[in-house]
Amino acid sequence: MSRNHDLFARAQKTIPGGVNSPVRAFCSVGGTPCFIERALGPHFWDADGKRYIDYIGSWGPMILGHLDAQVLAAVQTALTRGFSFGTPTEAEIEMAEEICKLVPSIEQVRLVSSGTEATMSALRLARGFTGRHRIIKFSGCYHGHADSLLIKAGSGLLSFGQPTSAGVPEAIAQHTTVLEYNNLAQLSETFASIGEEIAAVIVEPIAGNMNLVRGTPEFLRLLRELCTQHGALLIFDEVMSGFRVALGGAQALYGITPDLSCLGKIIGGGMPAAAFGGRRDIMAHLAPLGAVYQAGTLAGNPLAVAAGLATLKRLQAPNFYDQLEARTARLTAGLTQAAHEAGMTFSTDHVGGMFGLYFAAHRPTSLAEVSHSNLDNFKPFFHHMLAAGVYFAPSAYEAGFVSITHDDTVIDTTLAAARMTFAALQR
Ligand code: PLP
Repeated sequence: MSRNHDLFARAQKTIPGGVNSPVRAFCSVGGTPCFIERALGPHFWDADGKRYIDYIGSWGPMILGHLDAQVLAAVQTALTRGFSFGTPTEAEIEMAEEICKLVPSIEQVRLVSSGTEATMSALRLARGFTGRHRIIKFSGCYHGHADSLLIKAGSGLLSFGQPTSAGVPEAIAQHTTVLEYNNLAQLSETFASIGEEIAAVIVEPIAGNMNLVRGTPEFLRLLRELCTQHGALLIFDEVMSGFRVALGGAQALYGITPDLSCLGKIIGGGMPAAAFGGRRDIMAHLAPLGAVYQAGTLAGNPLAVAAGLATLKRLQAPNFYDQLEARTARLTAGLTQAAHEAGMTFSTDHVGGMFGLYFAAHRPTSLAEVSHSNLDNFKPFFHHMLAAGVYFAPSAYEAGFVSITHDDTVIDTTLAAARMTFAALQR
């Protein structure tokens, strides 16, 4: 028996399903989850001492690789000063200033502890600001697990074949309209019929929760236009894409200014920090200034802020994103070549340090297209790669992440494993 097996058996006695977040349970690929003990750079080690090349990066945050020396030093310094005060700190101002500088659509920002809190609070603010109730979201986009957003969500839910969660009251669900991603006609029709009811449209401008699917520029431009025309707020959920696809996030790549943005993952550098922010006149509606309530005991936690600030500073090094993109491109081009050499139907996409792998001839543009790709191939692909020491996300509905420490040697080791894997799949 491996220690991973023993730990999983033990975990299931006191933790539902043995995990604290569903996708970790390997339900859609089968097998025993790896219990990770430590990590460094592009690698982590499981309870059996096996080393893996890590392409989940804690589901996005670890853009600098694990245990970055500068982030570690910043956290160690903060640690000696106290874990949490529940009072304002100067580091929070620095963090807010840094975010507002790097993402210019954010004039004011509020720190929270998770992406779920960020999107949930942004929606409440949008409703409070507009005095309307209806939310539009898109099939395959995941925005965390607040009730009004857990409507046909992607990611873990899809892996379990459950389009919605039990426990979400219909009375809440009925205020959320779910549309198809990248479908311009449906979007226009919806605004034409219920535009004046819509408080906000929330979207992942580059979606990473149905594998990687890019919003088309036309789709995102139309969203901006329609929201402005109808007095609805446009919320970019950049919890995943923020600081991942470019320093200024997807909004910088597309040149589109949302009213509100949600950030998370990278801004905590691996610690629990997230944020929502945007137009000053909208943010002024938040308590203690305005009537929209929002709060958090650990919001702006000094350790999380120290990790986040140190991370954001490192990202501003010259050519950081060019280098990150080059690494990701080397991986995706190599995987495509290896698959095609083995005669597999396979394609990839990447933006910055984020990538998608599809057992399909073309990159998908919607959840329906992702679901039509040959998902049966994903499971054996995942397990062959895992056995070879390469850890991809254990679901075909997740994007992958490359860090700045995934150098040529690491990527070439991955590609060697992929060539063997694709050959084995063809047998
Ligand atoms: N929004 C997006 C785009 C995400 O990818 C996620 C998490 O994966 C969330 C929101 C929720 O963030 P958290 O898991 O920190 O609550």
